[in-house]
Amino acid sequence: MSAVVLTLAGCGTTGASTASWHGAASSAASPAASSDGGGQARPISDSTAQAATGKPSASASASPSTSASAAASAPASSDGIMRQTGGPGVALTFDDGPSADTPRLLAMLREHNIKATFCVVGVAVQEFPQYLKEIVKDGHTLCNHTWKHDEKLGKKSADTIRADLQRTNDEILKVVPGAQIKYFRHPAGNFTPTAVKVASELGMVSLGWTVDPSDWNVKKWSGAQMTQHIITTVRNNTKPGAVILSHDGGGDRSATLAAYKTLLPELKQQYSLVALPV
Ligand SMILES: [Zn+2]
Repeated sequence: MSAVVLTLAGCGTTGASTASWHGAASSAASPAASSDGGGQARPISDSTAQAATGKPSASASASPSTSASAAASAPASSDGIMRQTGGPGVALTFDDGPSADTPRLLAMLREHNIKATFCVVGVAVQEFPQYLKEIVKDGHTLCNHTWKHDEKLGKKSADTIRADLQRTNDEILKVVPGAQIKYFRHPAGNFTPTAVKVASELGMVSLGWTVDPSDWNVKKWSGAQMTQHIITTVRNNTKPGAVILSHDGGGDRSATLAAYKTLLPELKQQYSLVALPV
């Protein structure tokens, strides 16, 4: 576990503790407050992958293909950031990995036949290539989360941003040739028009979120308290179409894993859990 922390700490822009990756975020844990990503420093996660795997809660138009195409054309907001799946499906997204905790999460998702989206960091892919392979093998969707989680990347030049995102995609493709990388999530949700544009030019949709249980905020909660906070926040704020942000990397993810052990069967019961379409 400590190895993970050390490894991922290296991904931070400052090289400080992993907590600092997202430490600047506001304390607001509500989805609404965090969904704008704008100036708040917040973590990112991954979102879903391709087809609906859960049960169509509202039989309506929830067939896998329908929801997938709906989500594909959903990108939404005028700022070009996709924060909802575009259909009734709910997307689980996990950020900052791969890490030593990723296999446990993958095992849980497999157990419930749930597909998710993983927003991976280049240096973490370099560190744990095998886990990236397993993510892809299990059918989850990939999202580019920058080379080393530079929370200020979006303020740099378009060329710098492009080089960072391309380097990250290249590393992913080196490990998993042919992998589809259709999403980009800026570290801490600090999207800028330039970053959104560059990502788009590289064929990636900028991905935000609607529910943020703040599992990155290890300074505020820990252990069982953190686990309960994650469970409560997700339970109270998830609605059809939601994109839920959580983390499988960036620090000790025990609390997140414990929370999802409880949440996965519940969410699957209530919603169609979809992987963002590629
Ligand atoms: Zn992140």
